[in-house]
Amino acid sequence: MISLRGVAVHNLKNIDIDLPKGKLIVFCGRSGSGKSSLALDTLYAEGQRQYIETFSPAIRRFLEKVEKPKAESLEGIPPAIAVGAFSRPSGSLTVGEATELRHYLASLFVQVGHVFCPECSRPITSDTPQTVWQQLRDAIQEGTKLQIVFTPPLEETSGKFADIWKEQGFLRGCFADAGRTEYDRRLISFRLDEPIPAKLYQPGLFIVADRLIFNPNNEERLIESLETAFDYGEGKCSVLLDNGVFHFSRTLSCGYCDVHVPRLTPKLLYTDWSDHIHFFNDVRSPTLSGLYRLTISELIQFFDSL
Ligand SMILES: [Zn+2]
Repeated sequence: MISLRGVAVHNLKNIDIDLPKGKLIVFCGRSGSGKSSLALDTLYAEGQRQYIETFSPAIRRFLEKVEKPKAESLEGIPPAIAVGAFSRPSGSLTVGEATELRHYLASLFVQVGHVFCPECSRPITSDTPQTVWQQLRDAIQEGTKLQIVFTPPLEETSGKFADIWKEQGFLRGCFADAGRTEYDRRLISFRLDEPIPAKLYQPGLFIVADRLIFNPNNEERLIESLETAFDYGEGKCSVLLDNGVFHFSRTLSCGYCDVHVPRLTPKLLYTDWSDHIHFFNDVRSPTLSGLYRLTISELIQFFDSL
């Protein structure tokens, strides 16, 4: 039961009232009789106020301060939402939109969601030299030959290309020769201080930041070289093996499809990206738009299962 005593908000004159929970209750009366003073300025306002009280003082500083409604006592009020009389030119609002729950869910997805590539469905994460190191350590064996490379920014692949990179302290480049089939055979290395192959100015060109034999004790050197490659490669780098290639990106983008994720803000959840941000790190887990397709009871079940 919600129990209100001596409510004196606006034109309410010290009223006492008990309201059962879990029921649909209608206040009616002529204009100015205090319907919205009771519903919005008392019940909703106190529900909001108590809800905000549950946050730490540090967070409360950023929330709008709600004054305590004028009354002797207000008991049993749960967190409240107010749904106004909205109108929209086309169609009707969903419950999620009318209650602004959609906005809160969007904020939640931005915090906990996992982005998957719309093209290839691979998880999109941002890499750091440390996470790349961990992935390599798990994926490749000691003694594997690898090259840490980056793609030079486009404007620098012409003219005095070799001189520019030589001056930065790099010794080698390599590129993929499209003429043959297997990746390892297609990869042609060259030295930056020797005459450069004619096929140089083409996509698929890399500058080599480091070449080494993989050794789990080599963490420091590998991380340093990855840092260099990320810096010169404008946030991207690749690791070439004899039989494959790994792509990494410091920004949220799919290294395989050249798909870039804009900055993760709740606004993004109002675009097509909403279909590619999943609740769990599993492409089959719900997206925000997937949640909207659930019935209320399915939705409750979903949140209960968390
Ligand atoms: Zn992709």
